[in-house]
Amino acid sequence: MEKCSKCKKNSVFQRAYSGEKLCSDHFKASIVEKTRKTISSYSMMKHGDTIAVAVSGGKDSLSLLGVLSKLTSRHREKIIVVTVDEGINEYRDEAVKLSSDMVSNLGLSQEIVSFESLFGFTLDEALDLRKDTKISSCSVCGILRRRAIDLAAKKVGADVVATGHNLDDFVQTYFINLTSGDMGRLEFLSPFFESQTDLPRRVKPFIEIYEEEIAFYAYLEDIPFQSIPCPYMNEGIRTEIRNFLNKLERNHPGIKYNTYGTALKILSSTHSSRKRRRCESCGHPSSSNICSSCRTIQMIQNNLSVN
Ligand code: SF4
Repeated sequence: MEKCSKCKKNSVFQRAYSGEKLCSDHFKASIVEKTRKTISSYSMMKHGDTIAVAVSGGKDSLSLLGVLSKLTSRHREKIIVVTVDEGINEYRDEAVKLSSDMVSNLGLSQEIVSFESLFGFTLDEALDLRKDTKISSCSVCGILRRRAIDLAAKKVGADVVATGHNLDDFVQTYFINLTSGDMGRLEFLSPFFESQTDLPRRVKPFIEIYEEEIAFYAYLEDIPFQSIPCPYMNEGIRTEIRNFLNKLERNHPGIKYNTYGTALKILSSTHSSRKRRRCESCGHPSSSNICSSCRTIQMIQNNLSVN
């Protein structure tokens, strides 16, 4: 068994992109430290902030909650968990329970909202009524969940919303948007997004950490996370892009991280040249006159009323 690069204990994880070998304690500490550095380098949080942590019940969001609890334990920030129940039959119940269990173990409070209570329909109902089959389930879900998180975070008086998006999510979504030509949505990929409205800013403290490292952190910390995959997960091209990127990373360790760095440079140059608009219906930042959330909600509500 090889030794940890930082102490004499046996290593449990080797980073192919750096050659670093780490024991369990140093691996866990490295994840907390990487998160702290990301928060600091993008000035994601301020002392005294109320932080809404969006927790779905998956490994990323539950690990983020654990790490942020550690990082804020000696500061004045307050954490409130927000959880969205999209209404996916036989899937979301387990996730909501896991998130509530961790919230109560940490002595935090939680705001649970559902698509049904906010928009009048569940995701299952919305997808049954979907007329334009070119819109993938995950696109509909992602657009609505973003709006639901904003509403829940505003309700609890949050200054900032932290989500568990990791490096793999970023690179996959960047490729998906490139292939669909959706330049307007690229803006929402940034590690830090300030809407310049009354909405809390959005931050992604795990954005520079590989998905497999977060999964291993959850395992080492004994964090129970959702085991059942979402029934809609394999629609769309994300799975193909994930497999393609994983193969590239195996053959060229560090390539995802390099892609992330290049994408950030492209994003920052296009942001400065693009004028930001507001949705005429809700006032949220938008790349068109009516934002994708309002268009999607309206389309589904219209379809509901004629059925
Ligand atoms: Fe929503 Fe897609 Fe995630 Fe399922 S896999 S919860 S549909 S984003």
